[in-house]
Amino acid sequence: MDRQQLQPLQGMTDLTAPEIALWQTLEEKARRLLDLYGFEEIRTPVLERTDVFTHSLGETTDVVSKEMYSFHDQGGREICLRPEGTAGVVRHVAGGGPEALESRLFYIGPMFRAEKPQAGRKRQFHQVGVEIFGPANPYADAECIALQAHLLAEWGLADCAVHVNTRGLPEDQKPVTDGLRDALRPHMNELCEDCRRRFDVNVLRTLDCKQPGCRTLVEALPEITSFMGEAARRHFGKVRDLLGPMGVTASVQPRLVRGFDYYIHTVWEITHTALGAQDALSGGGRYVIDFGKKAVEGVGFAIGMERIVAVLTAAGTAPAAHARPHGVWIISLGEEAVRENMVLARQLREKGVKCGMDLGMRGMKAQMRAANRSGAPWAVIRGADELAKSVCVLKDMKTGDQAELALTDLLTRLTAAG
Ligand code: AMP
Repeated sequence: MDRQQLQPLQGMTDLTAPEIALWQTLEEKARRLLDLYGFEEIRTPVLERTDVFTHSLGETTDVVSKEMYSFHDQGGREICLRPEGTAGVVRHVAGGGPEALESRLFYIGPMFRAEKPQAGRKRQFHQVGVEIFGPANPYADAECIALQAHLLAEWGLADCAVHVNTRGLPEDQKPVTDGLRDALRPHMNELCEDCRRRFDVNVLRTLDCKQPGCRTLVEALPEITSFMGEAARRHFGKVRDLLGPMGVTASVQPRLVRGFDYYIHTVWEITHTALGAQDALSGGGRYVIDFGKKAVEGVGFAIGMERIVAVLTAAGTAPAAHARPHGVWIISLGEEAVRENMVLARQLREKGVKCGMDLGMRGMKAQMRAANRSGAPWAVIRGADELAKSVCVLKDMKTGDQAELALTDLLTRLTAAG
């Protein structure tokens, strides 16, 4: 294999030490906080039937029409790598009993989109996401937004901007799309090719089109709430009223619609200035997905972990995340000592002492260098002499002092040092 073949696929990354320690810290903090809010973890498969997404996200969305890693397996089934987390969770809930429709679930894991890789855009990226099923009302929406702000603050990101809007009820959809088409029709020639193509099938997408011509047109459009009925506006007003007292400052962004078809009512996005062009840290909203058995309504969000790591790293405010250093490094001189020290290492680890040892039968000097590199405050040395006397040499790596100890005393001493 040449050098390039040893790299992961373009847009994908091996996550390793030392950065992985930050990921673990963030995940731990998320697990702890989500538990306080009563969420349980769900791990859905990374591979799903493609129609789980085409049916819920919508055929004409960018993710489904351009970015899915979709293929036929050996049995001829059309399957794909999940591009997002909500649809799989809803598939699970739709197939479950009534208690599933009252659940609070979270997931942490990789998502896949065949996008053009660039800063902030990967082909495999990771999301922490939550879904709240149960009462379909503005209180759940507000709690979900506030939870998300709480989680970001736990991670050291209190300085985010929260943008909210509403997609209205399903019955508002036609007046909204008709209203947008009427307003855009006289300017058809000024729309980009994508938006002209999507005009009849998904005119909402024009609202978040990045082309300068489309953006100018969109700025002049009426707010989509002006096409909605009273019920949608009331729901949205209530969400906004609830957020302030919970310490969330949210600004209404009238063009925010989010990329998937399943959204209804409240949608939101959280951004951070340190991210540049791809400034969205996370997004969420209320949704309805109907896989045929029963329509499932929920509210949730997904946070892009690569972007969280990028912001924290850029700001230099990443929570301290150091791998725990070794407590002991064991040095073995000769094969018999290696065998006996493997037993000793097992005993120490059973007692919660982190220890390492060299399995390469190297000389004393090389093993001592490894002991120094490990950062362990203690080294244990055993060779044929020590084995014959049933003792070990315990060396204080800082002072260089060393003493012979009986094996049982050694275990007591190191366990206490922990
Ligand atoms: P979405 O599922 O599109 O609503 O995205 C939710 C969040 O996931 C975004 O705000 C980003 O933080 C993150 N995200 C989405 N797509 C990517 C990507 N291609 N690369 C990295 N992060 C992404």
